[in-house]
Amino acid sequence: MRLFKKCLFHLCLISYFFHFSGILPPDNYVVSQKIYTPYLTVKFLNVGQGDSIIIQFPNGKCLLMDGGPRESSEAVLNGLIELGIQKIDYLICTHPDIDHIGGLLDVVRSVPVGQVYDSGKGYDTRAYLEYIRLIHERNIPFSIIQEGDVLPFDSEVTVQVLNSGQGKIFNNHAGIVLWVKYKACEFLFTADVEKHIEKRLIRKYLLDVDVLKVAHHGSKSSTSKAFLEKIRPSYAVLSYEKGNPYGHPHRSVLKRLKQNKVQWFETARDGDIDMKTDGYRLWIEGEKMSVKR
Ligand SMILES: [Zn+2]
Repeated sequence: MRLFKKCLFHLCLISYFFHFSGILPPDNYVVSQKIYTPYLTVKFLNVGQGDSIIIQFPNGKCLLMDGGPRESSEAVLNGLIELGIQKIDYLICTHPDIDHIGGLLDVVRSVPVGQVYDSGKGYDTRAYLEYIRLIHERNIPFSIIQEGDVLPFDSEVTVQVLNSGQGKIFNNHAGIVLWVKYKACEFLFTADVEKHIEKRLIRKYLLDVDVLKVAHHGSKSSTSKAFLEKIRPSYAVLSYEKGNPYGHPHRSVLKRLKQNKVQWFETARDGDIDMKTDGYRLWIEGEKMSVKR
């Protein structure tokens, strides 16, 4: 704490100097003031028919996972502004479908990005090629992540890749699945993966999570009974647009969530969904929830 106060004092001194000396910092001078908190926050953005999630780590770094469809870039940018994010430290596009990559195009044009992680699943659409071109033009470091990789976002938070795109033919099968664990609180983000991937996940990994991002917007192709029974989420989030032509979320998925006593939230009904945890307690939309220990 003493060190923090010392740093704060120096920061104030520097600001005072620049402000009152009449000397302005050069144009490329960037003050990156990271604020350390004991919280991990997750914001599920209401981006219509698609996914977009912002995670802020206790060390102040942030991850943007997906950007929803093209027309949702404004919602994503507003979400970043709301959280005071001026730079995206890490960007993940779970897979190249337009409802995940579309909104990222304008985001990459407008906000500095530190590092891009990709599923490695290529796609011959204009949106995907534009996305890759933008990353290349801006010299953003680009890495393909593989199953088993542990991403070094924050030393206090385990972020592990449980599925990625190598050798996958279909985009939905290639989706990056992330398991995020902060102390006793666990999240599982499942992109648009389908039942056979879920089956492999529960066969291969010991998963018992607090929060599940329901795969594929609540499509009946995912969120099987066996999967829910094994990972036993207390809470779930469904991201979709009301009246979408795919009929998401499917009533059978909602029924399975209900049967497994999962309390779920929906972007189409609830708007942005904000979660915050200190690793032992979880707040959803400001309300205190219990976490499994
Ligand atoms: Zn999708």
